[in-house]
Amino acid sequence: MMINHHPTDDFLLALAAGRLAAGPALLVSVHLESCVACRERLHALQAVGGALLEQAAPELLAPEALARTLERIDMPAPAAPAAPVAAATATPRPSLPAGTSWPASLRGCAISDWHWMGPGMRYARIALPQEKDGTLWALQIAPGRSLARHTHTGLELTQVLRGAFDDGRSVFGPGDFDATDSDVRHQPVVQEGTQCVCLAYVEGNLRFEGRIAGLIGGWIGM
Ligand SMILES: [Zn+2]
Repeated sequence: MMINHHPTDDFLLALAAGRLAAGPALLVSVHLESCVACRERLHALQAVGGALLEQAAPELLAPEALARTLERIDMPAPAAPAAPVAAATATPRPSLPAGTSWPASLRGCAISDWHWMGPGMRYARIALPQEKDGTLWALQIAPGRSLARHTHTGLELTQVLRGAFDDGRSVFGPGDFDATDSDVRHQPVVQEGTQCVCLAYVEGNLRFEGRIAGLIGGWIGM
């Protein structure tokens, strides 16, 4: 798998420190499943953090030492790790195109059936019990189809499981991770040849341009 787009160090460190909300943590975990480069990068970042701790003066090794050391290296202090999403169950899963499977990181998550969201486009909702402000979706979009042009009210994270789309900024293929925010206005177009399946985390709402797209977006809660 040729992966070209990766989470930034901020995402990797925040995941390691238990600082990411459930949705972003799941997407970064799914990325790490398929990306050796990011797994190595994360280990390297953790080793740097560990080395800084070892060099710290003894008085720093008080309970708040880790927080203070992380502060000095410009990294958020770790919070208590989030509770597990749910116990692993043998929940039935909506079907995926042949050759694609649901990532292991989603094992404990309830995933809805596929629902229509436009010609050649379907979505499934992935339950995030302990997250109030964001929604995690699986999207399945046919070759040549595109999601309506939109902006975001908050963060939008995408992890591609199969196929590829071009949103005018770049082409995102299998294993690629993308993070956009309210500054980005884009229209992802799925490349010819392969059904595209991706996971999308949306904080707040997408703002679709065009009346019908806006109606459908509001109606499915996207
Ligand atoms: Zn990566």
